[in-house]
Amino acid sequence: MIYKRSSALFAEAQKVIPGGVNSPVRAFKAVGGDPIFVKKAKGAYLYDEDGNKLIDYIASWGPLILGHAFDPVVKAVKERAELGTSYGMPTELETRIAELAISMVPNIEKIRFVNSGTEACMSAVRLARGYTGRDKIIKFSGCYHGHSDSFLIQAGSGAVTFGSPNSPGVTQGTAKDTLLAPYNNLEQVKALFEANKGEVAAIILEPVAGNMGCVLPQEDFLHRLRTLCDAHGALLIFDEVMTGFRLAPGGVQELMGVKADLVTFGKVIGGGLPVGAFAGSNEIMSKLAPEGPVYQAGTLSGNPLAMAAGYTMLKYLNDHREVFESLDKKTEYLHKGLDEVMKSSEMPWCINRLGSMISLHFTDKVVDFDTAAKGNNDTFKKYYHHMLDNGIYLPPSAFESWFLNDALSYEDLDKTIEATRSFVNS
Ligand SMILES: *Cc1c(COP(=O)(O)O)cnc(C)c1O
Repeated sequence: MIYKRSSALFAEAQKVIPGGVNSPVRAFKAVGGDPIFVKKAKGAYLYDEDGNKLIDYIASWGPLILGHAFDPVVKAVKERAELGTSYGMPTELETRIAELAISMVPNIEKIRFVNSGTEACMSAVRLARGYTGRDKIIKFSGCYHGHSDSFLIQAGSGAVTFGSPNSPGVTQGTAKDTLLAPYNNLEQVKALFEANKGEVAAIILEPVAGNMGCVLPQEDFLHRLRTLCDAHGALLIFDEVMTGFRLAPGGVQELMGVKADLVTFGKVIGGGLPVGAFAGSNEIMSKLAPEGPVYQAGTLSGNPLAMAAGYTMLKYLNDHREVFESLDKKTEYLHKGLDEVMKSSEMPWCINRLGSMISLHFTDKVVDFDTAAKGNNDTFKKYYHHMLDNGIYLPPSAFESWFLNDALSYEDLDKTIEATRSFVNS
């Protein structure tokens, strides 16, 4: 395929935007070559500036679970825009989406809307600290919770892709309050609690990780974190920015039957517009300003266009719960197809999957960040470009899960399996 215009646009972008992109992983640094500039998208397909059509496996990194330019969402945003795009005053719509989200997700009574997943996680941690009166948090290597300072301590995703686990600009003072454990490692969490008695405000984690590829919590891991938090008076925060409204209507809390004290959302909850949210019990959420002393605010929070998109998306998912089953079936079909193809290959590999999140790793077994990092990146790069040449757009980093959308057809999945077969046979 030819990417002449994309490359020209990238050259222009680099003159005025650092690295030519507004979010690092888009720049293709992990896979080499120039990023592709997109012109438009519909359903499962991206149409780039050179006129190529690509089957999309990132869905804007998760939000577009029903495919691009989903008609009801587009209609809702258009209608709402006619009425004004922002007021800085409360609207009925905010209450309606809050009610809907609370009815879909277990264990939450109040929800606050923000503009991104980063903001949601940052605010949830502040609230946990304010509520418990403690400073420290425990996070897991390879889990990504956005780019606020407390989390850029060996974060996954973009930061890992660039091989700089700690970002300059994050102070020692901040770093000392973030304790790190390997994912799925309970012993380490116990040790951290013992060494920091009475100081840990919360554990934050992706209950199913999607930022080191897809990594599942091992048997009982989440339940036992719950027990540990209760024993030590710490809050359990599920970062469901990726998994919320994707793996199940009620997210991983529903799927695995574990109660979190605070839950963060992003991606699907905004239907493709910039939205994040965090939620919990009345008791905890009442500590938030203006009801309580923990400050948090946003000029564009609860923006009417974003709320219209989010409400329409959640309502559709709530009324069409068969979507989750359909996505699961499609992803399982892809999983089986890729499994069969990879079995005939000589290289080490494994596939991790839950629901519509799936990742192919060029190493034997991936259960945490260290094992994910063992994946052969040269093979991944070759695979990535082979797939792209076959019209398939995968996340341009070996540390990312693929996110399926329900607009994908079985024919698209077959093409993906066949392109993988031709890679393995080449
Ligand atoms: C994407 C993501 C975030 C950050 O959300 P942004 O909207 O990019 O700020 C946080 N946590 C998880 C699990 C994510 O996947």
